[in-house]
Amino acid sequence: MSGIGTGFAVQLAAVTNRSSQEQPMPPPETLTQIREDIYQVKLPLPFALRIVNCYLLRGAAGWSIVDTGLHTDKGEACWRTIFAELAIKPGDIEKIVVTHHHPDHYGMAGWLSAWNQTVTPIYTSAREHDMIAQVWWRDEGISTDFAALMHSAGVGETMLDAMLRIGAEIREETAPHPPEIAVISAGERLRLGTRDFKIINGPGHSVAQVLLHDDADRLIFCADHVLAKITPNVGIWPGSDPSPLHSFLDSLQALLALEVNMALPGHRSIIEDWQGRITELQAHHDTRLAQMYDAAHDGATAFQIAQTVFDFEQFTAHEMRFAVAETLAHLEYLRQRGDIAREDGDVWMFRPA
Ligand SMILES: [Zn+2]
Repeated sequence: MSGIGTGFAVQLAAVTNRSSQEQPMPPPETLTQIREDIYQVKLPLPFALRIVNCYLLRGAAGWSIVDTGLHTDKGEACWRTIFAELAIKPGDIEKIVVTHHHPDHYGMAGWLSAWNQTVTPIYTSAREHDMIAQVWWRDEGISTDFAALMHSAGVGETMLDAMLRIGAEIREETAPHPPEIAVISAGERLRLGTRDFKIINGPGHSVAQVLLHDDADRLIFCADHVLAKITPNVGIWPGSDPSPLHSFLDSLQALLALEVNMALPGHRSIIEDWQGRITELQAHHDTRLAQMYDAAHDGATAFQIAQTVFDFEQFTAHEMRFAVAETLAHLEYLRQRGDIAREDGDVWMFRPA
């Protein structure tokens, strides 16, 4: 299980900085056959997380794609190489599923749809669709709301400017946008390739990630809801659940009952011990809640508490915003549980209740 340090920092970098941790990109030929009809595609990311896992499913009517990558030149080159390798031609992509609105998952949906030279059905959940529209389609995005939230959390002007600059860069890596996106809901079924998936809602890391469960094969596409080695960032953001950690932990508890032998995640390695990994994630948040409670002992802002709990020396401004959002999520959970109180001045102060 990842601790407070590096593992989390890496996942913090999920949408993040390109200056401080330059690492060589993985080669484009990172195509792995998972099942007779399923391939994993490792696409490069220009920040510390380095790789997003996307998936291809082969069917009689064409290929389906689960998640698309961040739109960069290297991402495009990677898809072109893989399409050549699998003899996939324009028109062959039958469906695309975007598990959630984050740029490393949504970013190339529009480019893939255009490459396919035909109207390509693209699916996500209603709430992720709303977030895509709010965050990527609106001219100003969510930067004003984000600035207000970070101000309340106690983030200073200079740090906030740095956070906003990186956010603006990433927006460009989600264009072009697809002409339309269809909505699928939890409980519905969706055929991808030859498989029949049940749609499951995965809240917490994002508002309503689309998880795809093939109960016949005990296989799940679990997006960034359950990850190996690193813990999914669960944070309060503009437009997020008011208490995303509640939603996340409730969801994990429910997912313990799901029969899964293979979970195909959005980052890092494939998970075979589904229940074991979920149990680790639950324990991780218990520990973190206790740390946050202790850090609020003398009264503190969210930013101060984040600095106590996380190793900020390792973080860039962009990673810090994930740490602050994650701190806010834990503090809100503690507040709703009655453990701490929040004084709502210009900047929020947290202290034991
Ligand atoms: Zn991701």
